Amino acid sequence: MGLPWRIAIDGPAASGKSTLGQRLAAHLGYLYVDTGVMYRAVTWAALRRGVPIADEAALTGLAETLDLDIAPPTVQDGRLYTVRVDGEDVTWDLRRPEVDAAVSQVSAYPGVRRALTRRQRQIGLRGRVVMVGRDIGTVVLPEADLKIYLDARLETRAWRRYQELQARGADVPFEAVLETMRQRDALDQGREVAPLRPAPDAVVLDTTALDIEGVFQKVLDLIAARCRETSHVAG
Ligand code: C5P
Repeated sequence: MGLPWRIAIDGPAASGKSTLGQRLAAHLGYLYVDTGVMYRAVTWAALRRGVPIADEAALTGLAETLDLDIAPPTVQDGRLYTVRVDGEDVTWDLRRPEVDAAVSQVSAYPGVRRALTRRQRQIGLRGRVVMVGRDIGTVVLPEADLKIYLDARLETRAWRRYQELQARGADVPFEAVLETMRQRDALDQGREVAPLRPAPDAVVLDTTALDIEGVFQKVLDLIAARCRETSHVAG
């Protein structure tokens, strides 16, 4: 065997998943898929259309039918991809604090998860993919041949997210970012369907004291070691 064919990266908000996933995908020439975007798009569409977030049936219908397109970046403004809902570019709207605050309630609905997991599996099964989310190694692609689970202290993650928001001009107090993240963690870890947790065969990396370069190097070392192991067994 050579390189891992399907790579799953899971972990809580701002643990470094998307930066790692994107670099890894670029390095390997793989497709990068951020599944959080899909949950955010459903949430954004509900808020935009005035659908109550508590209406589980309506949210499920939205997840099943939403016209959602994720394409390579169309604008050079630091985005990793362009997301369109009903043809409208919503890439940055998906990062708004009101989406942050509601997305974990939406993603706990089993019908929403069923619809989006189906879309994600279709993409993931094609291979040569780095897929990032909360349940990729456990539910979406349990057959992934490399599973990474990134973690970091809550305060560190909230600080990273606060700085990202500041850089984009969003004026949200640090305490509010911390509190939203604390609530999102609790909902993501505590939900009944596909809770956030490492797959039994995932490699867990704590990024509290590591910068992105350090994490990236660790994962490249891991891939190289896996390649050596499998070629040794095969030979
Ligand atoms: O990764 P990101 O922070 O953009 O994800 C937003 C939210 O979407 C998460 O807090 C979680 O509730 C949900 N999500 C999920 N399963 C995934 C990806 C994201 O439940 N695979």
